[in-house]
Amino acid sequence: MTAAVTEAPPRPSRVLHRSSRAVPPRAIGGHGIWLVEEGGREVIDASGGAAVSCLGHQHPRIVAAIQRQAGQLCYAHTGFFTNAPAEDLAEELVGAEPGGLAQAYFVAGGSEAVEAAIKLARQYAIETGQPARTRFIARRQSYHGNTLGALSAGGNAARKAPYAPLLSPAFSHVSPAFAYHGQHPGEDEAAYVARLADELEAEFQRLGPGNVAAFIAEPVVGATAGCVPAPAGYFRAVRAICDRHGALLILDEVMSGMGRTGTLHAWQQEGIAPDIQAIAKGLGGGYQPIGAVLVAGRVVEAIARGSGAFQHGHTYLSHALACAAALEVQRVIREEGLLENVVAMGERLQRRLAERFGNHHHVGDIRGRGLFRAIELVEDRAGRRPFDPALTLHARIKQEAFARGLACYPGGGTLDGVRGDHVLLAPPYIVAPEEIDLIVERLGEAVDAAL
Ligand code: PLP
Repeated sequence: MTAAVTEAPPRPSRVLHRSSRAVPPRAIGGHGIWLVEEGGREVIDASGGAAVSCLGHQHPRIVAAIQRQAGQLCYAHTGFFTNAPAEDLAEELVGAEPGGLAQAYFVAGGSEAVEAAIKLARQYAIETGQPARTRFIARRQSYHGNTLGALSAGGNAARKAPYAPLLSPAFSHVSPAFAYHGQHPGEDEAAYVARLADELEAEFQRLGPGNVAAFIAEPVVGATAGCVPAPAGYFRAVRAICDRHGALLILDEVMSGMGRTGTLHAWQQEGIAPDIQAIAKGLGGGYQPIGAVLVAGRVVEAIARGSGAFQHGHTYLSHALACAAALEVQRVIREEGLLENVVAMGERLQRRLAERFGNHHHVGDIRGRGLFRAIELVEDRAGRRPFDPALTLHARIKQEAFARGLACYPGGGTLDGVRGDHVLLAPPYIVAPEEIDLIVERLGEAVDAAL
């Protein structure tokens, strides 16, 4: 954050944009994976914004569903009413009780979902007669949202720094499961997982196992590290530790969930299920702002048996128009078998990235699952040494890519003080093979131009 300037520059817009110095170009339309700028230039939305637009833009079924619902009912406060889109969306998501998740709580976005997940875990502790459970364990190199509770849970040091005095001390952090940087030379995957599990166990012991309400993690780390799945067996080990100590497991699938990694939920590839799950982005695909918390039967039953009410609420809970949009998004994904395309196009994307960057001096890692892939840029490939953060390489790549009609999602993460640059790709699930090839072609040109 910069210090105050003596003379303020003229305001370029009445909207407080991400940058107060520049106004981004106006988006005026979209179709499929393309966004249209004022003036007519078309840009490939290669990361769906921030892994949001899972069906691309202006999908006719979603537009029609929104129009239908808007003509009928947009909003009715949940203090008085429920509504059909919310009931139907909950049925769609948890009607079959996947992994024991039995009820859904609809909010307006990812940070709200994470806040609700944290508070649910705390309330579960109280309802089950364990008021000492006030502590949460999270991981460094994670992002859980920008509101104060979610930011406290996150491990993105740069985003947290200005607000450190406001953040909650209830959260402590252990190492991420990040083999590229964390696995020691000569250490096999099982040994790495065992070391991470030992560290988590030690943190439970340090805090007192009876004081921990929950462990929270992203199954595939998104924004902070760039599409990092955990090594095989990691989440089974985590689940066992949580169970042993009576703590809940919260999975934050705000970015990695709702089909992004090739299964509807990322945890379905880990052989475990969470007690509480946060979802957002791909839930509504950007057609409406919506997030949700999916809650295990035993957690909602404890509340029903206890105080009988989740002590948390927002004005826009179960917003009818937002739920109608999300319901149609989820129906399209299911009815059109789009997860198969996520898997097939995800494999093609990985293959094309490997062809283009596999021998690149400055691309150290190409990783991810489904249509959730990233390249990590390094100064020195053999030593996995990152570029000087002052170069803000990821920002330069973003700029070069945008100039070539490609919107991608770059980031710089910090792992125990080491910052790395990555570029994240998360195209819509409807992406075609030739569009995958074009994305990689344009990204290749942008990386070469930025270096
Ligand atoms: N959790 C994860 C894993 C995310 O990636 C994000 C956003 O990028 C959030 C939470 C916060 O979601 P939102 O920006 O909708 O508040």
